[in-house]
Amino acid sequence: MRHITTHTSPATGLRGIGDTSWQPRGVCHGMDPEDADATFFPLPRDHEAIADAKELCALCPVRRDCFTYALDNDLKEGIWGGLTAAERRPWHDGLPQRLDYSRVVAFFNGRDVHLTEAERKVIVDHAYVRGWRPDRLAAALQISYKHARDLLRQAANKVFDRDRTLGVPRRKNTKKQGTPAKTNSQPPTARPAAQQPVSRPVTSASAHAPLGKAA
Ligand code: SF4
Repeated sequence: MRHITTHTSPATGLRGIGDTSWQPRGVCHGMDPEDADATFFPLPRDHEAIADAKELCALCPVRRDCFTYALDNDLKEGIWGGLTAAERRPWHDGLPQRLDYSRVVAFFNGRDVHLTEAERKVIVDHAYVRGWRPDRLAAALQISYKHARDLLRQAANKVFDRDRTLGVPRRKNTKKQGTPAKTNSQPPTARPAAQQPVSRPVTSASAHAPLGKAA
């Protein structure tokens, strides 16, 4: 808690420690460290102190961020986001399965989010559907290129299996359609300009620019 109440430096921007930009807006920000410790780390049966802390947290505009920060950083002691350690325990226990779409959206908007396994899977699927390339996913998730490539392949297989199961018709092979018929008037090695373009999925920079941190 001292970190929250005395921390005045801006968020570092480093990945892996989460977004701390909300901390200066906390009601407890700037409290004397001793008072903050006494208020937000009461003994489990000190109901009066717990009530005081909850009263402060009830007025706090960053309660949700505070609560999420405690979950992300596995902070199981003290009062965070207006909830005691016992009240937060179910969330801590179920953390790997948490799937919060607001956090997924925040990720695609470029925020530094500690993702759970479930959230990472959804993000990989969305990245595949959005046409992200492995290097972009690798940069966004801070993983290797090969790992990102494998994840996108798995997502592609998943979409293929789903479409086959649901009977979704496959898109026509536009590559074949775009290839002009062979004629005897051209030598086999000739590659006129008219034969060059092959229809490709739209992957322009403008299609991806606003989508994420790796833009
Ligand atoms: S929710 Fe409570 S503990 Fe968290 S920042 Fe606000 S006042 Fe402090």
